[in-house]
Amino acid sequence: MRPSEEYRALTDAEWEEFLGPFERRKVELGVCGRAYGTPCQHEHACIRCPMLRPDPKQLGRLAEIIENLNTRLAEANDRGWLGEVEGLVASLAGAEQKLATMQQIASSVRYPIELSRRQGGP
Ligand code: SF4
Repeated sequence: MRPSEEYRALTDAEWEEFLGPFERRKVELGVCGRAYGTPCQHEHACIRCPMLRPDPKQLGRLAEIIENLNTRLAEANDRGWLGEVEGLVASLAGAEQKLATMQQIASSVRYPIELSRRQGGP
């Protein structure tokens, strides 16, 4: 019932336009959830941003970031860099919250796989 001109192969530009918004949302630790076509108002401080949906595949990377933040926080405390301490504490809190979210996503993704095994699936 749809017009026949809608049933044609997409051009590369059309396909790129379709995929572009999804591809451009990928960030270091997951996927950015801000509205399509809007700029990042948080200056790409993804570790502290509630718009980040963390990807459990980046768990090792996030663990490294947390370790690094702890090292920097200890040094900032030792050297009395109080301005730095405040930012590092906020980043560390954000990173630990993202870690908890990653673990929660990872455990919820596993559930349907276990369910299909119970039903005799692969
Ligand atoms: S800081 Fe937030 S809004 Fe900006 S790119 Fe990162 S996740 Fe997206």
